[in-house]
Amino acid sequence: MTRKPHPPGTLLLGQHFCLERCPHCETDRPTLELKATIGTRFRDFPTAWCFYSCNRCGGVVTGWGETWFDSGDRPNLIDVEARGFFPAGRSVSPLLPESARHYLVQAQQTLRQPDGCLALCANAVDAMLSEVGYPPVKDTSLFQRIETAAGDGALTRAMAEWAHTVRLVANDVRHPDLESSRPTAKDAARGVDFVEALGEYLFVLPSRVSMGLMSKPTDLPVGRATAGDTEDEPES
Ligand SMILES: [Zn+2]
Repeated sequence: MTRKPHPPGTLLLGQHFCLERCPHCETDRPTLELKATIGTRFRDFPTAWCFYSCNRCGGVVTGWGETWFDSGDRPNLIDVEARGFFPAGRSVSPLLPESARHYLVQAQQTLRQPDGCLALCANAVDAMLSEVGYPPVKDTSLFQRIETAAGDGALTRAMAEWAHTVRLVANDVRHPDLESSRPTAKDAARGVDFVEALGEYLFVLPSRVSMGLMSKPTDLPVGRATAGDTEDEPES
């Protein structure tokens, strides 16, 4: 099979995997070095699998792509166009309010700077609470607003309890056992995990439920609404 030139900007499975960000440590433009490759084939379709390691954190990223057989009937394993990779890393739903998205994106990008990351997490929570009717009130902490929202049923009790187990600000002194140390990357990751979940609960899930309620059976593609249909592709 003759190789076609790849268009500019194509993500390739080469000696390095040129991702914008490491899905493990969030480093910008990480150096992801090729460590191993394997080729598989299903029927007559060969697939290349490439395993990369991040020079910064050691995390492994697996990239894959449809490839071709070389002259020895082996799947070609290098300079293949990537069709996907995993882990995919963190992302921010477009269904979040603009202000919350603004802070959450930055928090995800600064996981290695815990103080700044946690301040951004707090800003994101502040933006989300304001959006659902709990704006800042003088002399009222973020956690008191979370408690009020939970008391009103806008948040679950479990969500409020989760909030109390994470450090949403770097100089958090709510818990004596957290006073003695500077926040770590783990604290930052826990903060971002909480903010992502809060966004899912307050905005993403309600939006998906609304969209589900609005879609009618007649919106389904023709041939998919009838029991007995199968998705098997015809044998060639
Ligand atoms: Zn990394």
